Amino acid sequence: MSAVVSLRDVHKRFGQVEVLRGVTLDIAAGEVVAVIGRSGSGKSTALRCINRLEVIQSGTIEVCGHAVHDPALDLRVLRQDVGMVFQSYNLFPHLTVAENITLAPRRVKRTPRAEARSLAEEALARVGLSDKIDAYPEQLSGGQQQRVAIARSLAMHPKVMLFDEVTSALDPHLTGEVLKVMEGLARGGMTMIVVTHEMGFARRVADRVIFMHTGLVWETGPGQMLAAPQTPELKDFLAADL
Ligand code: ADP
Ligand code: MG
Repeated sequence: MSAVVSLRDVHKRFGQVEVLRGVTLDIAAGEVVAVIGRSGSGKSTALRCINRLEVIQSGTIEVCGHAVHDPALDLRVLRQDVGMVFQSYNLFPHLTVAENITLAPRRVKRTPRAEARSLAEEALARVGLSDKIDAYPEQLSGGQQQRVAIARSLAMHPKVMLFDEVTSALDPHLTGEVLKVMEGLARGGMTMIVVTHEMGFARRVADRVIFMHTGLVWETGPGQMLAAPQTPELKDFLAADL
């Protein structure tokens, strides 16, 4: 029962195409898991199933005690515990940073305005952007906007954070600042599942690396496994990536 995220033999199809072909995995509280793999291997779909943005055909998914596979599950309850950050940060351009961050707490949790403001201050401090609280997104770099998107998730005080290639759209020099924020969260004990192409991050920060291939967990182990891949598929993937 110590797993915060637990997938059992999860199958997901889009039409005739089986994208997840029996995924089983357990993630403990405070664990940081990096998910790597080729484009199309099912990484995003797996994350989206965990947050019930996709409905699975069979298997079970438990997240923070919620039965995600249960059609009767209250999605608002699930999503209060699970934060998700995507490649595209999707901030509202006509709202300030503070307004972007407090939108969900105010609407979903009915947090009063003053309290929401302090939530925003607290979340922005964690991503190192306290001075941007009243800025508009267009006044920020891509890296800063992505850090605001992370702060927006943190303001809901999630128990698990899902990251789907959050640095893929950023220039290399902006990637570093976002990875640093994520590393800080990891060190602070956040439970995180991070789909990423950043092998350095996977090696240095993740407690465990999961290599997905053709809709399966193909190989898994500590970061060092990247230095000594066991399967030809991981070997090929790493060779192609360098
Ligand atoms: P990854 O994130 O590893 O690149 P995805 O999970 O996005 O892989 O996609 C896995 C496979 O599922 C791909 O073949 C993709 O085309 C397919 N797929 C993903 N989402 C959908 C969808 N909404 N409808 C149909 N096929 C999809
Ligand atoms: Mg993807």
